[in-house]
Amino acid sequence: MLTAEQARQLGHVRGSDLRDLMRQAAAIKQQYWGDTISYSRKVFVPLTNMCRDTCTYCTFVKHPSSPDAHIMTLDQVMATARKGEEAGCKELLFSLGEKPELRYEAARTALSKLGHTTMTSYLAEACAMILRETTLLPHVNAGTLTDDEIDQLRPYAASMGMMLETTSKRLMKAGQPHYGCPDKSPVQRLRTLERAGQKRVPFTTGLLIGIGETWEERIDALEAINASHRRYGHIQEVIIQNFLRKPGIGMANHPEPALDDMLRTLAVARLILSPDISLQAPPNLSERHTEYLQAGINDWGGISPVTIDFINPQHRWPVIEELASSTRACGQRLEERLTVYPSYMQDKTEFIDPAVLAKSQGLWSQMNGRDWQLDGVLL
Ligand code: SF4
Repeated sequence: MLTAEQARQLGHVRGSDLRDLMRQAAAIKQQYWGDTISYSRKVFVPLTNMCRDTCTYCTFVKHPSSPDAHIMTLDQVMATARKGEEAGCKELLFSLGEKPELRYEAARTALSKLGHTTMTSYLAEACAMILRETTLLPHVNAGTLTDDEIDQLRPYAASMGMMLETTSKRLMKAGQPHYGCPDKSPVQRLRTLERAGQKRVPFTTGLLIGIGETWEERIDALEAINASHRRYGHIQEVIIQNFLRKPGIGMANHPEPALDDMLRTLAVARLILSPDISLQAPPNLSERHTEYLQAGINDWGGISPVTIDFINPQHRWPVIEELASSTRACGQRLEERLTVYPSYMQDKTEFIDPAVLAKSQGLWSQMNGRDWQLDGVLL
């Protein structure tokens, strides 16, 4: 394991020193997670693409004046969910822009037609419908959340998530990617991490790398996540996601992080974070993603056989059978998981609402062909 001070010295490590660092990270992964690399078979529902923020790397967000701006109806949500069920998905991921109703009249009007005044209450209704009427488990990615908003969602969501992205306040200044984005204030995002812990929510978070943050700021962000997990035990996974250029965004000409930068960050993340936190990197954002397996990751994240990656629409998901094969070629074994990790269904059951827990355990038993009640051990 690494101290923050040691990690801060590693920002330029390369060549054989980088390989040594990766070997240390991979050894911890092997010790805690074995030779398994997990993924979640999921369907994505972009409930709304309106957002009060304007991050300059985002292609997902649409201004309400755009003909592509939308809030999905419950019928549309259900139609997508049914496609997911038919394709064997177990998770439905709601992704959405942050609180568009606080900024745009058009969002308030659209929500009011759906019988709601806030996106969070509409999201809670959509989650309840999915939990009740489908075989899928809802996971919500709704950005910063207040205590009250977590309370609204928790009875219907197996897990929740919000990328911390960075703890850099510098990136909120004029000319920087988070300028004019109130929900990207590091203080607000760290508060959400804390609230999720206090409210006992299995939580996914992570870093977006290459948006202008320094190496030291990356270490600060990893340290902050780990400290929150030490207090509450709620961080089930950390995603390390690489920034990618896209046409038409404010950062269309910003350099992308190099592969070595990604490998260095993954290895240091594995060596800073508590080993029970799953470490994930997306396989569709680099052609050389199998090299991440040598840097300590144990998870490929959500992969959909049904819907595109709405955040990076130009990068298709890998075919699951092909990913299984390339993972096997690296000496690892691909295994499906649910949106909530086994430790929260087995040991830390107070993290999940009873109805959601029963459904999660039932799905897990089906996937593994064993009786949850009789099994009694972490699978
Ligand atoms: S908060 Fe999310 S959806 Fe909104 S602009 Fe930023 S990245 Fe896009």
